[in-house]
Amino acid sequence: MTLMQTHGVPPHPQNFEIWFNYASGHNPDLKKSMDDLISSGDGFNGEHTDELYAQFFSIMAEGIQVSEAANILDDQLQRLMSALNDADGNTQNFGTALAEFTGALQTGGEGDLRAALAQVVTATTEMRSRNSTLETQLEDSVGEIRQLRDDLDTMRHEAFTDALTGIANRKMFDHELMRLAAESREAQSELCLLMLDIDHFKQFNDNYGHQIGDQVLKLLAATVKECVKGRDIPARYGGEEFSVILPATDLQSAVTLAEQIRQAIGSKKVVNKQTNQDLGRITVSIGAGQFVAGEPLGELIRRADEAMYLAKNTGRNRVASEEGISHTRLSDMAETG
Ligand code: GH3
Ligand code: MG
Ligand code: MG
Repeated sequence: MTLMQTHGVPPHPQNFEIWFNYASGHNPDLKKSMDDLISSGDGFNGEHTDELYAQFFSIMAEGIQVSEAANILDDQLQRLMSALNDADGNTQNFGTALAEFTGALQTGGEGDLRAALAQVVTATTEMRSRNSTLETQLEDSVGEIRQLRDDLDTMRHEAFTDALTGIANRKMFDHELMRLAAESREAQSELCLLMLDIDHFKQFNDNYGHQIGDQVLKLLAATVKECVKGRDIPARYGGEEFSVILPATDLQSAVTLAEQIRQAIGSKKVVNKQTNQDLGRITVSIGAGQFVAGEPLGELIRRADEAMYLAKNTGRNRVASEEGISHTRLSDMAETG
């Protein structure tokens, strides 16, 4: 509470959760991100809160936690299994020894003692059989937990993948952008963002139908994916808008890559597979922005978006960078006096 007051953070359930976790120090990544923000001196605003919350308390963070929990459970069960194996081995040995002892006593003829020892042997045998039942049950449990973890991995993959195009969806984009921005802040490396929008796509849908339009989205996603490499993350931002996160990339290189993407898309012939009808070509307009350490990510997206609209307004089928926006703004101001 004192920390929140010191940093002028308003009382709000999300803020409580974030700052409680910060103060407890349980999550080193959260602590690191917040320490970075604090030392940046930008202060905490609503956007920072939303980003932190989405990054560390969203369904993905939960998914990772659940998966980690499953891993731990799995490990523990493995350990238990081997403990039981050992125990079973010991019991077997014990059983053998006792059986031998009973044999020896049988020849000695000590009636009562023999009976007692025979009982011990029986008990031991029972114990061994119980152990082996338990082992089977535990093996089943391990199998079940493994299955559970696989299901969870599949679910997580599906939750962050766009069903139509197979590339990252918006949720994944948000998460990855936050992660890579934090990394860029920390490593003081550059980070760029491309925003891409299909030109006159409404017209295309009107001409050929939504289903063919969807095929174009698939083709486009595959083309963008082919153009990028390594740690670059292409995503479907929404509808017919795509984005590419470019870690360790300066604005100039981002524009060059955007130009390659634009040309690759423009060079594809769109054909209706069923009728073989040539549907011409599609073009895209792309905007490029560069992350400024400490700014809310909404600002970066807004600039890349503005650059994309600049590309639209200056003729479409082209690439514009955020540098162009400030130029047009200045010339707008000059024109309007
Ligand atoms: P502009 O060049 O200005 O971008 O023109 P546009 O017609 O592409 O305009 P806008 O970007 O607003 O396009 C939105 C259109 O994209 C509306 C809709 O027809 C189409 N669209 C959006 N999402 C989908 C989708 O999931 N599938 C299909 N087939 N079309 C979509
Ligand atoms: Mg659009
Ligand atoms: Mg469009």
